[in-house]
Parts: sequence; structure tokens; C-alpha cells
Amino acid sequence: MIVGILGAGQLARMIALAGHPLGVEFIFLDPAADACAKPVGELLQGAYDDPLQLQKLAERADVVTYEFENVPAEVADYLASHTQVHPSPRALAVAQDRLHEKNFFNQIGIPTPAYQAVDSLQALQAAMPTIGYPAILKSRTQGYDGKGQSVLHSVADLPAAWQLLQGVPAIVEGFVPFSREVSIIGARNPAGEIIFYPVSENQHRGGILRVAQCRADDAAQAQAEDYARRLLTELDYVGVLALEMFDIEGKLIANEFAPRVHNSGHWTIEGAQTSQFENHLRAILNLPLGPTQPVGHAAMVNFIGGLPKTEQILAMPDAHLHLYGKAPRKGRKVAHATLRTNTAGQLTEPLAQLAALANQVDDS
Ligand code: AMP
Repeated sequence: MIVGILGAGQLARMIALAGHPLGVEFIFLDPAADACAKPVGELLQGAYDDPLQLQKLAERADVVTYEFENVPAEVADYLASHTQVHPSPRALAVAQDRLHEKNFFNQIGIPTPAYQAVDSLQALQAAMPTIGYPAILKSRTQGYDGKGQSVLHSVADLPAAWQLLQGVPAIVEGFVPFSREVSIIGARNPAGEIIFYPVSENQHRGGILRVAQCRADDAAQAQAEDYARRLLTELDYVGVLALEMFDIEGKLIANEFAPRVHNSGHWTIEGAQTSQFENHLRAILNLPLGPTQPVGHAAMVNFIGGLPKTEQILAMPDAHLHLYGKAPRKGRKVAHATLRTNTAGQLTEPLAQLAALANQVDDS
């Protein structure tokens, strides 16, 4: 069985690493000649809309999936007309535009912050009395890790924030006074079987995920599952999906969903019976989904922009290091480490140590 992946970054690399024991082979399409999944499959180098490379991918892959959502819609449609594509181009189209995504959340009964589409400074100024301050202005498409976003504190902030977007269609949304951020990862296979992992509690800084911790038996689990189940069933979804939410004193509000494996689920490699990467493959290959029960207590720390000495991490008995094979660059995720311990208490100290190591090298 050959799985094609659009993108050959660390997510594609970890999907392939999970697939090799199952006898799955991989072929990636990525513009970068040194894309970090290259050592674990065959790399087709080219733009995502390169007709020749797309044709090769469609011919060779039994099923195509992707590691990020900003794939041109025509590309997903082309591939879907030649081979199987999971998740569907429709799921991709909903997830890649924040306006469609929020409209869809509301249609299926998932609460969101107040929001309004804006396509000019005048429209933004007109929206603010309804949205209120503070607020966040985001580009509708192509945004990730907080890119293309500005926090608005008063009417004086609007012209500069609008300028930063350089005229791209945008959405303005109310700033949510959350007590914490959580995400849930779920998977659905073509038979309609659905599984969920325990929610993950996530810490972001500058819009980028820094730390994610598995929260087994969390009070938010049932509500998170209800919302994610609506997405999975309403989109007739196949594969792994991550739903990111704000928790305001026990009430969950959706921020966005990723139609793919997700950084907040990296702890599932060591911290769950089946990893999100393996379950994504099982789902898109129409295989039974694996159990998602936590194994011990787990948390993950991202290394962004640089790496401490690997010995410092490997010296920690409960740490599991994952290097992505990427050259360090400002703001770039280059590795993560997961801690897995027998008791929750045992996590606290090494987690603080790992986070401190990550902060020392973090240049973002
Ligand atoms: P996003 O790119 O939409 O995932 O946003 C990245 C991060 O910015 C989120 O994980 C939050 O930490 C923060 N953020 C985004 N939207 C809001 C909002 N409406 N209210 C408060 N914080 C937000």
C-alpha cells in the first residue's frame, strides 16, 4: 500500500514513521529539496500545483492525504478525481478559510467567538462597535501559528492592523478571555467508526504552541467530544482531525480545526496506546482504529528556533526526543520531546526543566 502525502515536513515524517511497521510505503510532494520527511519515503520535489508531479502522485499513491490545510482547492479536486483523497476536499475547503470554518461551526451548533468578515478598513471600523474590544484581526486564509494576526485594543489600532494584512480578506473576532486552551483529537474511518483521545491542555505564546499536556478524565472531555463528533459526522470525515478550543470556566468555544494530525497530539506517540499518526493511517486505509487510552501521564514540549544539547534531554529518564532533521531557523519547529511518567506528580519537575531548556533556545 502506498500513501501519498502533500507536504514532507515533520508531520509527514511522523506519519511515515508510524506507517513503516504496518508495511505502508510513502511518497511525498513538497517544494523543498531537503524536506525533512525525505529519509522516510520518496520525495517528489515541486510546487503543490506542479502538473507533472501531481500526475505522478495520483498514479502512484493508493490514497493521498496532507500534512497541512493550505493546499490549493484545485489540487485536492484534481487528486480526488484520480485517486482516493482523505480527508475530503470539502473538509479541506471548510478548514482553510476562517470565515467558512466559523460559519460551519455555527451551522452545526458549535459555539464560536463573535466574528465578522471584513474586506476594507471601513468595514473593519464599522464592525468594531458590534465585536467590541479587545479583538483579533486575522487573515481568512493562509494563516497558521498566529501569522497574519493583530490584537486590537482601540480604534487607534485599526489602520496599522489593516495595513499589516495588505488587503487580503480578513475576519475580526472578539478576544476570548479564556481560562485555558484545549484541543481534542479524533479520528473516523470510512465505516463511520469514531475514536477520541483525552483532551490536551495547550500553552501558546505568540500564537505558537509551546507545551501540550494530556488531560485524562478532564471535565471538558464530553463537551469536546460532542463538538468534534459533529464535525466528523457532518463532514463525512475520514482521517484524524484536531479541534482547538478556548475554555471559559467550563464552557468550550471553538477556535479552529485542523483537518490533519496536530502538534497538540504529538504526546500520543508515547502517551497513548495508538498514536494519532498510526490512527490517521488506519482511518484513511479503512482499517480498524486503534485504542486511544493514555499510557501513564504525558506532556510535550516544542523546540522552536534551536535545540539544546541532545544529551541534556536524553539524560532525563522520562523524556523521549524527536528531532525533525530540520536546520534551525527563527520561529521554526525543529524538534519536540515528550515526557511520560507513571504518576501525574512525576511530570511536574521534568516538564518545568524541559520548558526552561526550550525557552533558552527559543528565538521566536
Ligand atoms: P489561531 O491562529 O487562530 O490558532 O490562533 C493562535 C493563538 O492565538 C490561539 O491558540 C490563541 O492563543 C490566540 N487566539 C486566537 N484567537 C483568539 C481569540 N479570539 N481570543 C483569544 N485568543 C486568541
